[in-house]
Amino acid sequence: MAAVLVLIDHPGAALHKSHRELLTLATTFGDATVAFIGDLNEQVLQELGARGVSSVYQPAASDVDDSLVAGKVAFLTEVVRSVAPAAVLLGNTFEAKEIAARAGIQLSSGVITDAVAIGEDFTVTKSVLAGSYAVEAKVTTGTPLITVKANTVEVAPVGNGAMPSVVAVDSPTPANAARITGRTTKPASGRPELTEARVIVAGGRGVDGNFTPVEELADALGGAVGASRAATDAGWIEHSAQVGQTGKTVSPQVYISAGISGAIQQKAGMQTAKVIIAVNKDADSPVFEIADFGVVGDLFKVLPQATAEILKRR
Ligand code: FAD
Repeated sequence: MAAVLVLIDHPGAALHKSHRELLTLATTFGDATVAFIGDLNEQVLQELGARGVSSVYQPAASDVDDSLVAGKVAFLTEVVRSVAPAAVLLGNTFEAKEIAARAGIQLSSGVITDAVAIGEDFTVTKSVLAGSYAVEAKVTTGTPLITVKANTVEVAPVGNGAMPSVVAVDSPTPANAARITGRTTKPASGRPELTEARVIVAGGRGVDGNFTPVEELADALGGAVGASRAATDAGWIEHSAQVGQTGKTVSPQVYISAGISGAIQQKAGMQTAKVIIAVNKDADSPVFEIADFGVVGDLFKVLPQATAEILKRR
């Protein structure tokens, strides 16, 4: 069977957990190949080989990033045309979904988003209606382009693969593509990416502008900080932290919801978390309907106590 192609986009110095998950999934179908955008350093290349990747394709031109997603789409479609993979796996970020959709149009191929499992014949189990149901879907036209949710695959241990071959791909960016003219870099928080985190502590209107107890508990647990829309709309935390229907969809091992009522639009983004712990001072709050564990109490008392206890046990 033709190899499964994985798009890895800018991992930085080392691969992320979500890339390892995609590679684990790809190698269950046999050989894996990678379309790689970013700095392909020795460490990354070695890990790709050890994870069963035989070939890595990278853009010949260095300006692939300068055109929003247009350059990435041109690169990916070129690789798909030359490799003819059995399927393409991408992450489930907004950008990856946009790349998949645009590449799907250019390749006359079907796209499936929000995959949580992929069967032998590329029948995909995906969550729909904001995570309320799981359905099976299959691409019937062209090369399946599948975006896979983070935390749906256990990363398999590393084997002893050979160094993959590296192939440079010429993929001119369309001349009419919009160009990025400048960038600003945000200081790194040191916390894991929200969609990849195993633990998320999220705050809502109940934090009343003070995210400190939420951030301190997240840091004690090595987790990420999330928020409800009420909190992001109030400007208490950046919009990228919003979880829900119009924010990010997350599936961590543990989601701690603090001062969040559990509206349907919030649930849409977090109800597939393995364990949900709710802290809310209102015992009748709807969040307790989906919580595995609940604490009826003031988050400004409960969260610092939990943080102190965790730090004490280290
Ligand atoms: P509230 O509903 O006001 O709840 C605050 C909670 O905090 C209450 O339950 C209260 O008891 C509790 N509380 C207060 N003080 C304390 C304290 N000291 N200790 C403990 N508990 C306390 N929302 C999202 O979250 N994500 C989305 O992506 C999203 N998308 C939307 C899209 C659309 C089209 C629409 C219409 C709405 C969307 N919303 C979204 C908004 C959503 O409907 C709710 O308004 C929002 O989730 C409410 O946020 P909240 O739970 O923080 O605030």
